[in-house]
Amino acid sequence: MSLKGRTAVVTGAGSGLGRACAVQLARDGAAVAVWDLNAEGAGETVRTIEAEGGRAVAYVGDAADRAAIEQTLARIRADLGPVLVLVNNAGITGFKPFLEITPEELERIYRINLMGPFFLTQAVIPDMLAAGWGRIVNISSSSAQTGAVGMAHYSSSKGGIIALTKTLAQEFAARGITVNNIPPGFIDTPMTRASPIDVDEIAAISPMKRAGQPEDIAAACSFLASEAAGYITGQTFGVNGGRVIY
Ligand code: NAD
Repeated sequence: MSLKGRTAVVTGAGSGLGRACAVQLARDGAAVAVWDLNAEGAGETVRTIEAEGGRAVAYVGDAADRAAIEQTLARIRADLGPVLVLVNNAGITGFKPFLEITPEELERIYRINLMGPFFLTQAVIPDMLAAGWGRIVNISSSSAQTGAVGMAHYSSSKGGIIALTKTLAQEFAARGITVNNIPPGFIDTPMTRASPIDVDEIAAISPMKRAGQPEDIAAACSFLASEAAGYITGQTFGVNGGRVIY
């Protein structure tokens, strides 16, 4: 699965799934832009990649800020070259009964989880079109597949990601760009540990009797970014230990 000579951008790569995807894409040969709000986390990811002999640079900032997206991408292109792999992973979660969700909370979650990936993808696709090759992997959520009580703002933002994936897959299928999404189901990350979800309890009742690990997502991301996955586009590639099957 060689991505040698190609540049990958992973948002939210300073923690959890994003970090695991960044580390794996670097192992696959990509130069990786590690983009996160959290400087410490991004730095740690870069150090992990460099310790393995890979190439990565940290970019600290809001991946959903439209003006900042252009500025950061200009730096990434200057440092690492055109972006041919994009992993839209940065996201925030939310737990609140539907009737209590405020407009501000809804806007914040849509801005980071849906509009950010929308704008960043718009900004990156010209690089892929110029190369006639590109891989976009969007991290959605199994909550968008099943629904999730108390997560209307979150699950609907992720449902938008699934719809965006399908539409872009069709728009760019003939131009060498694939667009897929991975809806994770209960992966043991700082986000899950900080949530009301009891990871160990969920693990105990899950088909595989374990929580997913960030590396489970990274393996799927690596495959979808690879040459081998060139005939796969528009798909929802569930990684959930059998929790959601259809
Ligand atoms: P995490 O909180 O451990 O990591 C998320 C990272 O994204 C953090 O480092 C954070 O600083 C960064 N981030 C957040 N907003 C950002 C922004 N605007 N710009 C740049 N960076 C930003 O969470 P995680 O569990 O690794 O989740 C990663 C993605 O997977 C999210 O989109 C999440 O919704 C999705 N997801 C996770 C699970 C799970 O079980 N962990 C399940 C379904 C979906």
